[in-house]
Parts: sequence; structure tokens; C-alpha cells
Amino acid sequence: MSRYRLSPTPAQEAALAEHCAHARFVWNLAVEQHAHWKPGRKGAPGFAEQCRQLTEARAAFGWLAAGSIVVQQQALKDFAQAMANFFGGTHRKPTWRRRGRSEGFRIVAVKADHVRRLSRNTGEVKIPKVGWVRFRWSRAVPGGAKSYRITRDAAGRWHVAFAAVPQPVPAPATGEAVGVDRGVAASAALSTGQLLTAPGLREPEARRLLRLERKLARARRGSHRRAKVKAALAKLKARQSDRRRDWVEKTSTDLARRFDVIAVEDLKIRNMTRSAKGTVEQPGTNVRQKAGLNRAILAAGWGRLVTRLEDKAPGRVVKINPAYTSQTCNTCGHRAPDNRESQAVFRCVACGHRADADVNAACNLRDTAVGRTVAERGGSPLGGPVNREPQRDLLLVG
Ligand SMILES: [Zn+2]
Repeated sequence: MSRYRLSPTPAQEAALAEHCAHARFVWNLAVEQHAHWKPGRKGAPGFAEQCRQLTEARAAFGWLAAGSIVVQQQALKDFAQAMANFFGGTHRKPTWRRRGRSEGFRIVAVKADHVRRLSRNTGEVKIPKVGWVRFRWSRAVPGGAKSYRITRDAAGRWHVAFAAVPQPVPAPATGEAVGVDRGVAASAALSTGQLLTAPGLREPEARRLLRLERKLARARRGSHRRAKVKAALAKLKARQSDRRRDWVEKTSTDLARRFDVIAVEDLKIRNMTRSAKGTVEQPGTNVRQKAGLNRAILAAGWGRLVTRLEDKAPGRVVKINPAYTSQTCNTCGHRAPDNRESQAVFRCVACGHRADADVNAACNLRDTAVGRTVAERGGSPLGGPVNREPQRDLLLVG
């Protein structure tokens, strides 16, 4: 996804906000319908049924009918996709969209001549019922974009992101596999021993964030000051997520380029096995704080990293059942909950193998993916590959 800063005129901005409001209304309607659904009841309405209801809603509400049906129908499709992702285990359950937070809408079936370049630094995109809106041509626009998403972040900035599934990165054909584990201290650990850290805020920025949060707590509700602090906070947070987004793109390209097979834990199973006791099994005081921060960073980044890997290395990503990957010694295969010196350090009680805990887990992921199971070396077997494809094509929408 490549994002570009949109610069709508005030009139266009109002029209875009209207589209956002319609998309949000339709999305929330769908959320509400699904919220009433309980196991055992007749299924919540599917996409076709919801489209019929949308037609009725448009007949009933003039303001909705005045909007773009393309925008509204796409919101329903996005919701259907979000539910499919949820059932596929790759994403969380779709929730309510609130005004002023992560607002946006999507346009599909984009024609090639709906995006054009005006000058070196300026381009424009055609948006239904809004017209041509300019954006900053900050880098090459991917050819063959079939859809785009317009968003307004909490800081009030508008962006357009063209969705062209990235070109697969050619495999190095070295036969090399890598395991990538979600880290505790670092963002991700590779079986090569490399630790990757998603960039967050720099030290002064983090201090400023804290200061602003304290200020916000003191500011009176509805006051001008509060709005100002809120905007400043949103800007900092947007900067943070921009950096993470970049990190995900770079990291996924790098991994796809360097390794033939990339082993990652299966998130769905991980959530089932670990959520009850928390991701961190034996939290130390400092580690826990760090891990909490890291978890927050990764909550958004990890799923995206896996999706990106699958885009860039199609058929080369293996999803592994993560049961016991953190408790099993990669050297001798001994599995015990006591195989820890600390949260960050793995130490095998049987053979004394000592390693970064996340790297040890990443090695187990890699070995399981290439079938070099610990069982072959005399240890107990780890959970095998699960390899559930993301169920993106489950729903024939779009
Ligand atoms: Zn061992």
C-alpha cells in the first residue's frame, strides 16, 4: 500500500467527510446486525441481504441516498471481508467506527485514467461525486491499482492509498528457511539470531507524548486547550504508525528476498493457546512494561507483516502451530516450562543450551517448517505446520 498526502479544497473536504460519514453509518449498521447474532441463531445477514437493506435504507433516508452508492456498498464489502478475516483468524473482529477516528472509504474498479500526474510533485485522483482531488506525488504511483482508499487520520490529514498487490519478490533459490517469531524484547526475532525492532517514537518524542497525555488528563472536557492537546497527540501517534508501516514494508521485502521459506507462528492458534495466560509467561517487572509496549506496537504491526510476507512471497510462507515453540530447546529437543533463565533468555535444563528466548523459538519455527522436527533428533514433536491460507477468497466479493 503506498500512501499519498491528499490536498482537497475546503469544498472537496466537506464532500469527502460526507462519504466518510456514509461509510461509517453503513459499517456500523453491519456491526450492529452481527452483534445481535449468537451461536444457534439464524445467521446474521450476509452481503447480498445487506445490500438489499442498503437499498431500503437509501429509500428511507434522503441524506444517505444523496451519497455515493459506490462508497456505501464498498463499506459493506469491506465489512464482509473483515468478518472473513476474523473467521480466518488473521484479524480481530470488526468493531464500531467512531467519528473522527480512522475515518475512510474505499473506491474499487478504478480505471487507469482515474489517476493522473499533473506535475513533478502533484497528481490527482478522480473520486465519485467529488471530482478530481489533488495529492502529493511523493513517489511513483503503482501501475494497475484497482482500488484506493481515502482516509482521514486523527490529526485531520487526508491520504489516498492505492492498493496494488505488491509484486512478488523473487525467491533467492538458496533453499534457506527462516523462522520469524514475535519477540518480547525486540519486535521480531529471526532464527539467524537477528533481532528486529520496529521503530517507535524517539526519546524526546516519547517524553513529549507523556507530557501531552498528562496535559490531556488535566484539560477540561470540551475546552479549546483540550482540542489542541488532542490534535498534537494525534499527530505524534500518526508519525509513530507511519514509521511502523514503513518498517513492515522494508522488513517483508527483505525477508522475501533473502529466504526461500519463511516460517511464522499461526496467529489463530497462538491466540487460543496463549491469550488466557497472557503472551508473557513469566513476566519480570521491567520486561513486563517493555513487553506491554511491544505488544501494543505489534498488535498493529504483526498481522500486517504476515499479510505483506504472503503478498511478497506467495506460497513461501509456512504457518506453524506455535504450541511449545517457546518451551522447547532447539538443540536437544527437551521441552519444559522451566527452560527459561529469564523472560528474555532461554536456558535448557537438560543440555544447558543458552540462547535468546525469541531466537530459540524462531529456530523451532524454522525447523518445523522444513520438516527438521525436533522429534527426528530424539525430542518430543512440536506442533506441525498449519498452513491455513488467509481466507481472503472465501467471500466472492469485489
Ligand atoms: Zn537442550
